Amino acid sequence: MDALSCAILPDSCSLCGSPLPRLSSVPICDVCWTEFPVQSGPSCARCGDTLAAPVLESSPASAALCRACRLAPPPFVRAVSYGLYQDRMKDAIHALKYGRLHTAARGLGRLLAKAIAQLAAEAPAEMLVIPIPLHRSKYTQRGFNQARSLAAHALGFLRKSHPEWRLTLASSTLMRLRATESQAGLTFRQRRFNVRGAFSVSDPAAVTAKHVLVIDDIFTTGATARAAAQALARAGAASVWVATLARARNMSPFRSGLFLDEGEDNIDLSPQGPGPVHGDPGLSGNSPDAGLEPATIYSSQDQPSF
Ligand SMILES: [Zn+2]
Ligand SMILES: [Zn+2]
Repeated sequence: MDALSCAILPDSCSLCGSPLPRLSSVPICDVCWTEFPVQSGPSCARCGDTLAAPVLESSPASAALCRACRLAPPPFVRAVSYGLYQDRMKDAIHALKYGRLHTAARGLGRLLAKAIAQLAAEAPAEMLVIPIPLHRSKYTQRGFNQARSLAAHALGFLRKSHPEWRLTLASSTLMRLRATESQAGLTFRQRRFNVRGAFSVSDPAAVTAKHVLVIDDIFTTGATARAAAQALARAGAASVWVATLARARNMSPFRSGLFLDEGEDNIDLSPQGPGPVHGDPGLSGNSPDAGLEPATIYSSQDQPSF
């Protein structure tokens, strides 16, 4: 029986390669679970991005916001993440997303639950939990939506840790209308254009006057979260919050120039013309899942739900 199990179950950690002390259906060792990189230092009160300087008591309220949130307040109240999208976290998410590490969804869901719990004190007592959807074609190809899977597991943990918090999974409420292209190599502006209008609410009555928590695996520039929150707000959601497993960081040189190419006056205003993006699909010709392609700053693995 042992021999059979060994043949079926992994015996080494799929992230660091060290031998697993016991047979486990989750091939991540105990050490790796404790070594997921977390964010430290001052962060933006809205989107959670790292701030260059600490916020002093005497500072104006705007000092607690990053430049992006000051210039173009996002349509969500607050976005939180468990950790940083790098090192083991990056490996784990990549492995989950491409199916190899399906069984890790529960452990990663537990980390996501910790991120969501950061909102417990300020978020509404009753919320709809809506994972960022995949487009149907992507779903067919991948066979599952990692954001939904993470959300379902996280809610399982939160029901125990926060039994009074009424969080209801509503995974078919938001739809992805377009099979948006991979955002690999795109600037923030291009990303925003890429996902603009990509989401729609299937049944607006279901979200009207409801508080919504949007779930995704990765928060990169926030363009996806903004687009989803905007669709939900338009459908009448009372408030939108965002929780992700991991957030990207150190995206320079784009990060420092996040908005510089847009002009500060027209951020988040209606269509500015396609700019360098021509038409909808076929932005870059990248195969969205081609994780082995040479990556620039944004590898194709960096894509939330793409
Ligand atoms: Zn390990
Ligand atoms: Zn911010």
